[in-house]
Order: sequence, then C-alpha cells, then structure tokens
Amino acid sequence: MSISWPGGRKAAASLTFDFDAESVWLAMDPANAGRPGALSIGVYGARVGVPLILDTLARHDVRATFFVVGKNVELYPDRVAAILDGGHEIAVHGYTHTPPSLLTPDEEEAELVKAKALLEGAGATITGYRSPSWEVSPVTLDLLQKHGFRYSSQYMADIRPYRHDHHDLIELPIQWLLDDWPHFQMGPGQMNRPVQTTRHVEQLWMEELEGISALGGHTIITMHPQVMGRPSRVALLDRLIGAMKARDDLWIATCGEVAALAETALPKGSSR
Ligand SMILES: [Zn+2]
Repeated sequence: MSISWPGGRKAAASLTFDFDAESVWLAMDPANAGRPGALSIGVYGARVGVPLILDTLARHDVRATFFVVGKNVELYPDRVAAILDGGHEIAVHGYTHTPPSLLTPDEEEAELVKAKALLEGAGATITGYRSPSWEVSPVTLDLLQKHGFRYSSQYMADIRPYRHDHHDLIELPIQWLLDDWPHFQMGPGQMNRPVQTTRHVEQLWMEELEGISALGGHTIITMHPQVMGRPSRVALLDRLIGAMKARDDLWIATCGEVAALAETALPKGSSR
C-alpha cells in the first residue's frame, strides 16, 4: 500500500526538532546533575537555539514539528509559547527524557500522561509522540493508543509511513543518519566523537533526501536546538530548507500532516 502525496508531488519531507534542553543530559547520567557545565549545553538550546531556529523557519515560511520534553513547559514556558506562536506542531517527547525501556509500565504511563497534559495545557494539540533516544518498551505502543495518540516517530523499519502491527498507530520512520546528534554533539560520555563539518552533514543529508525522494518516501530530519542552534548549523538549516523548497516535487509538511494523510491512505489492519 503506498501513499499519493498532495498536489501530485513525488515525495515528502519533515523538519523535526527534539527540544530536550538539559533533560537529555540528566537522563543520560544522573551524575550530570552535579555538572552545571554539562547542563549548560542543554540550556543553550532553550536560550539561543530555539529562537534562532524559529527565526529561520519563519523566514522560509515553513512549519516544523517540535517533540518537546514535558518538563520544558515548566522550565521554559516562553519557548514553548514561541514554538506555538510560530504555527509549528508540538508533540510529546517524554516528561523527563528517560527512555521508556528504563521505566516500569506504570512509570512510563505516568510520564506520558503528565507530558501530554502539560503540553496541552500550554495550548498544543497533541497527536504525536517520539520516545527519548528512540528507545521504546514493550508497552509503549499500547500506551500511545490508550491515550489517544495517532502516530509515533521512533522506528527505523521503512522510508515511508506505515501502520504498526496490531495497532491503529501510524509510524513515521526516522534514522540515525538523518539526526544531527551523532554527527555534531559532544559532551560527558560522548567525548570521543569527531565533530563533523556542516558541509559533510549537508552532503549526507542531501544524498539521503534525494534517495528517499526518488523512491517516493518521507524524509524526516531530526535536529536538536542545542545542536542545530549553533550559528554554523543554523546556516546549514537555512541551506537545507532552501534546497528542499527548490524541489517542486517535494511536499514539506509537519509530522502531524503526514500522519493524517497516512491514516486515510493506509487501511487499518495493514502493517505496510
Ligand atoms: Zn531527545
């Protein structure tokens, strides 16, 4: 079963931003709570990264999907409001950024419910979820369906949207290749990684965009305000959006928009 993209376009693409701030470092290693320098890497994302990214998206008149840690509604309400004011979609990215695979089912459900309620309280309409670090538990999909989610974006099994087996949920698949973190980010526990130039990552991403698009698929770029919000990478984002907009065969849409289309195109009970 395949999807026909709107306006006769050949493929789709979504820009996504995982707004973690310091929670990703705290979840990665509780000892980071005693390392304010390490946490400041995440603070940068909220303080500087989000505004620079929102400015770039606004200049291009492009809407993105922000997967937001629920805790950030409490820590950075002005940034969450700015994302919504920009017309962007907000989806759930846990409450504390703890991967569900490390939680009991009850703890996982409590995180999910709390984050969804906080983001809805901030004014977001929630239909989507992405697990922290793309780690899921055996009950994650059941919990998403129970709490009214319509799509997730955390599996890597395809280059096109699909329905999960035994669920109504739509999956919008991602891949580490199309994530800024492994190419650019350094910090405690990740100090051996070479930081790539923006030209290197631009080439990787553009080649993959061209490949997925040639196959009629959906390219999802996963970025983080604390990574992509560095000035050199905001320039990369600007070039990337320009290249996407230059393709008249590409539908640039939020994950929620793609998931809504996939729901109508992919019958329930079809896992592909
Ligand atoms: Zn994250």
